[in-house]
Amino acid sequence: MESGYFREEVERLSREDLNNVIDDRVRYTIRYAADHSPFYRAWFRHHRIDPGSVRTHEDLINLPVISGKTIRENQPPVTNEFMFRSVDCEEVFTIHETSGTSGTPKSFFLTWDDWLRYAEKYARSFVSQGFSRGDRIVICASYGMNVGANTMTLAARDIHATIIPIGKCSFPSRIIRSYRPTGIVGSVFKLLHLAARMKAEGIRPEDSSIKGLIVGGESFADESRMYLSEVWECDVFNTYGSTEGTMCGECTVRQGLHVPEDLVHLDVYDPTLERFVGDGECGRAVLTTLIPVGGRAGTLLINYDTEDTTVVTTRNPCLCGRTHMKIMNPQREAETAWILGTPVNKVDIERGVFQRENMGYLTGEYEAFIYEGEETAETVLRVSMERQRDISASERELVMENFKKSFYRYKTALSPLSGDTFSLEFSFPEPGGLELSRIKGRPMRLVDRRG
Ligand SMILES: [Zn+2]
Repeated sequence: MESGYFREEVERLSREDLNNVIDDRVRYTIRYAADHSPFYRAWFRHHRIDPGSVRTHEDLINLPVISGKTIRENQPPVTNEFMFRSVDCEEVFTIHETSGTSGTPKSFFLTWDDWLRYAEKYARSFVSQGFSRGDRIVICASYGMNVGANTMTLAARDIHATIIPIGKCSFPSRIIRSYRPTGIVGSVFKLLHLAARMKAEGIRPEDSSIKGLIVGGESFADESRMYLSEVWECDVFNTYGSTEGTMCGECTVRQGLHVPEDLVHLDVYDPTLERFVGDGECGRAVLTTLIPVGGRAGTLLINYDTEDTTVVTTRNPCLCGRTHMKIMNPQREAETAWILGTPVNKVDIERGVFQRENMGYLTGEYEAFIYEGEETAETVLRVSMERQRDISASERELVMENFKKSFYRYKTALSPLSGDTFSLEFSFPEPGGLELSRIKGRPMRLVDRRG
């Protein structure tokens, strides 16, 4: 797909000019925080930080890191007021909450200016993926209290595209037939389900009007993305967005996600070392809102730990022409479990499931549980993979071997323990037979059931 730029003069700034924009905005944002955010006013005082001493983005790494817990502890019911709200109530355009998968949802207050900036991040991302005037995009992300679906809709106005705001992936195939959408925003699994349903209703996804899929809202293995791309015979672009204000998108080069560096600053932090790490090193994405000089923000964050792990892969110009840095697809720390000293993420399991030769037998749906085995000091990882149909013993054997090969390739430390203190077990439930199919909401695919 051809792609231009939404705001070329910003998206292609030289590194030096971009850093100057960032540093101007860092200074302004810090000053704005000290003047308007009750939380940060107290935070600067408590940590004896002179806001005027924070001059560049490099100064941010000397400041403390805050977390989701910090936000929850500074809003009702813990405090009387929302300490992160940084404008008067009358200036608030919308109020949002995060999905609250871990405790009380975090509250976010957005002004109309914030909406325009969120929309701009999505607009840049859409254009970088080849969407523009005349495109029709189905939004399957939900139009709830999260920010994404709503501000994506506003972004379409700016790129002269049409939005079909369905808000869920379980829409009738009629939508595809009637409106001939060119793109869908959804999650990998929901788009696989949609393809299966369309096939059952006589529409081949690969022959449909869709020319690109935009996935996000969860981390996934490259293998599952490749499979989705094969099923739909179109490009699949990753995005990483959150109510906190990250909105990074993959361009047509598809080698990492561009961070809109003039609007959000991202550093990588290693919580075990308690320090920031350099490019190429893995750690948690820590973000800082950047407010344009003279602008206002309803909620702003400085050094906010997203608890998602990533790596800054490059700050060199991309083949697409953009100069903004790229990061690897972030993984959720909450989806990592430690097995005998080795971190195992949901994505490690997913990669094993989606081995290409497995996909003639599986739907792709899976879940995994970690148990303590019957024997002392034995850990069991049981992987349940939904089968498409009845599969023979030799076919099961093939799938298990493919899984093991993929899994141990990346988890080499567990391989010599295999069959000794660590074991992999498999089951192949029929369609709809996974435990997660009985649970509402975002499914937990890797569940630690050790005592
Ligand atoms: Zn690019």
